[in-house]
Amino acid sequence: MRFSNFHQHSTFSDGKNTPEEVVLSAIEKNMESIGFSDHSFTEIDQSYCMKLERYSDYYAEINRLKEKYKDKITVFLGIEKDYYSEIERDKFDYVIASVHYIYANGVCHPIDHSKIQQETYIATECGGDILKFARDYYELVIKNVRDTKPDVVGHFDVISKFGLIDEDNPEYRGIAKSALAEVLKICPVIEMNTGAISRRVKDIPYPHPFLLEFILKNGGEIMLSADSHAKETVCFYFEECVEMLKKIGFTHIVKLTENGMVREAI
Ligand SMILES: [Zn+2]
Ligand SMILES: [Zn+2]
Repeated sequence: MRFSNFHQHSTFSDGKNTPEEVVLSAIEKNMESIGFSDHSFTEIDQSYCMKLERYSDYYAEINRLKEKYKDKITVFLGIEKDYYSEIERDKFDYVIASVHYIYANGVCHPIDHSKIQQETYIATECGGDILKFARDYYELVIKNVRDTKPDVVGHFDVISKFGLIDEDNPEYRGIAKSALAEVLKICPVIEMNTGAISRRVKDIPYPHPFLLEFILKNGGEIMLSADSHAKETVCFYFEECVEMLKKIGFTHIVKLTENGMVREAI
């Protein structure tokens, strides 16, 4: 099958390559489509996101590439919207809603940057209770999805990134599943995200297989996503993801097309 990736960063936020370098790499890999989803401007941490003054260049550049390469690949203009961020929704072909921070008592805690930052949040805001951390995080995931009404939910269980959470703990599983049930009522499309594998932080994609099973049983849909920050990783680990999905019982994935979201058999 020809792959598509809708979670791609470029030099407009924290990616290594220009959008055009990314498009050329995707064409070389015979991909069907590529969607850019640079990080939306987030005032509480401007180190990784798009600057406000660059939005108009972003729109212009991605739209230029759409036209220039239309005979070879379909290009989409998207955005990865953090909870602590506002966007002009109608500028984009699609929106991914993701949570990267928990803001508490005047402090911004990044939750997917480092293990130490997660440990600091658990110690200072949760009295060492790791399940409170999980509840706080998933509460924001639900709020972000309710506020944004996105097309895709980004790295649903990213708090598992550094291995602090015991994903076999039934209490944790209950918290994650009840959040997922709420999310699916609003946005049925959850991405299967390989970004932490390409960065060698994890050896399985998000979401964890118990959540993939829950998605399958509850009528959710899966979109493959590389959460790529470089031209080399535009469809990283996608073949393995398809095999994983088949083993769980999925018969299709979804992808964005010029006619909207469609199913594709696997
Ligand atoms: Zn993200
Ligand atoms: Zn991302």
